[in-house]
Amino acid sequence: MIANQSNNSARVALITGSTSGIGKAIALQLAKDGFRVVFHSRSSVTEGEKLASAVPGAIYIQADLSDQAQTKRLVSDLLSGCGRLDVLVNNAGINAMIPHGLLKEATPEIWRDLYEVNVIAPWTLIAEAEQALRNASTKECPSCILNISSHAGVRPKGASIPYAASKSALNHMTQLLALTLSPEIRVNAIAPGLVDTPMTESWVEAHKLWREKSPMKRGAKPSEIAHIASMLVSSSYLTGEIILSDGGLNLT
Ligand code: NAD
Repeated sequence: MIANQSNNSARVALITGSTSGIGKAIALQLAKDGFRVVFHSRSSVTEGEKLASAVPGAIYIQADLSDQAQTKRLVSDLLSGCGRLDVLVNNAGINAMIPHGLLKEATPEIWRDLYEVNVIAPWTLIAEAEQALRNASTKECPSCILNISSHAGVRPKGASIPYAASKSALNHMTQLLALTLSPEIRVNAIAPGLVDTPMTESWVEAHKLWREKSPMKRGAKPSEIAHIASMLVSSSYLTGEIILSDGGLNLT
């Protein structure tokens, strides 16, 4: 864990999987919005430390979220380093490309791996962070959890059925927890369609689909998803929302 110059009064935001793609864009946006951000990744330690040293007050923590002990350690390390937590963004996620009709290719191991990172890790982080989020919450500024799910968790689409089902579980968890943790903690999700990130670089068909069929004629840039994240975080009222962010493809 490394820390840049610290600012103990700033509100703190943890963004999982924030050394690339959507998570990195959200972390940089929340830093601009005045948060002390905590960068996290599974393995890209050098990049995480570089990002943290470039952003005032930021720290970086490495943790493999497929490992329960490391997932819990992420929250305890954060609280020892920052002393508070106001916003938790569950962005880290994994995917698997499997044609939907090839049922035997979607093995139990693949189901378990996807659920471990996409569903159980966010749940564990929320459970471990709940007390700190409650402590930081005020009437004017409730604490906030933001889950990055997928349009595949809303519509019967996506790179594979296990991936889509894992993101659907994350969406349902979002709404159940919005009911359970209110009013001290708001819980929302963003369900992106195609976003230009390392994960989707080779998805030629998906890029073609968005160019040709979506009303916006393209996938999103990570900064555009980060802008939506910033809006949701800055609200003091919205909870239980799943913001489908697919450039209107769902309308076609
Ligand atoms: P990305 O590959 O750039 O980022 C994924 C991040 O998750 C990485 O930082 C990685 O370190 C982290 N991660 C993966 N497994 C981990 C583990 N075991 N422990 C800790 N961290 C782990 O991809 P992205 O496109 O920016 O994806 C971010 C989120 O957005 C994911 O949850 C993804 O499912 C979701 N999403 C992406 C798209 C898209 O088109 N890019 C669309 C819908 C949803």
